[in-house]
Amino acid sequence: MKIYSSYFSNRILKHVANDMKELASDGFTGVVHTFSENDFRYYSQSFIDIVKASHDAGLDVDIDPWGVGRVFGGEAFSAWIAENPDSMQVSIDGSPKPLACLNSDNFLSFMHEWLDAAVQTGADGIFWDEPHIYIPKKNDPESSWTCACDKCRKLFSEMFNTDFPDTRTSQVEQFHAWTLKNFLARMLKLAKGAGMRNTVCLLPKEFAPNDPLDWSDIASLDTVDIIATDPYWFIAKRDVENFVRSYSRRIKELADSNSIEPQIWIQAFRVPQGRENELSRAVEIAIEEGIENLAVWGFNACADMSYLRCDDSKLVWDVVKRAFNNIK
Ligand SMILES: [Zn+2]
Repeated sequence: MKIYSSYFSNRILKHVANDMKELASDGFTGVVHTFSENDFRYYSQSFIDIVKASHDAGLDVDIDPWGVGRVFGGEAFSAWIAENPDSMQVSIDGSPKPLACLNSDNFLSFMHEWLDAAVQTGADGIFWDEPHIYIPKKNDPESSWTCACDKCRKLFSEMFNTDFPDTRTSQVEQFHAWTLKNFLARMLKLAKGAGMRNTVCLLPKEFAPNDPLDWSDIASLDTVDIIATDPYWFIAKRDVENFVRSYSRRIKELADSNSIEPQIWIQAFRVPQGRENELSRAVEIAIEEGIENLAVWGFNACADMSYLRCDDSKLVWDVVKRAFNNIK
């Protein structure tokens, strides 16, 4: 006789509740829960319990549109893109890219539904995680930039009174910056209207070289409560000292000039052996630059996520906890 049960590793509420209690007793004051398309479609009700367990542990809760439409950061696939190929971003050479066009009305209404479900969980805020247009891969041809779909071409023509060009002119960059800002502004307004706090986490340019955004255009939106960035120095192959300091300084200045709160993320994934102590230095640097809202990606130094885990996740997590406790 053989007897099996299926097992859903990330859907076991008693483990979630224990982990939330552990975070609180380790001194964390909040948690960001990833809420992917998969979670939204099948487990929205489970997330009400997950958020409740987090609140019961005394934690503040943000919800993250993790990988939704692939226009946000995160290791999660998008079924929506496969089901709505007409709303894909399209590169200038005409090839569709597997992420949603931010000017697609169809995608906006999907995001509206996602947001409704995120609000229903009872969370305190939305963590708008690295919103972006297509980021060309290393081996992509020059002509792979987006978005030049029919909708974007039409909007561009209306805006600039000329046809969409074949090259990425400054008008195109301006249009793409407007696209991102317009999309975010609409989302943030909806979230604000539903009583949510808005945190926007902007991608360092090193991770999105063609990112057209002027960060101050986003930080100055009156619906932004917290402006964040994630200077992950190991994956950027940069020195912790300069990289974390320059982005901490920049986000602090942006926050101060808009009377909002700055947040800095510390890299606790893919940390190489022997460099674990750089995390405590990163925390110190952010503090030295006046940051009082710190966050770490992710729980347990991603020990159980093979794509993200560190060479020694246990040691990294110990360093993180010690660093955060030292600053209190
Ligand atoms: Zn488009």
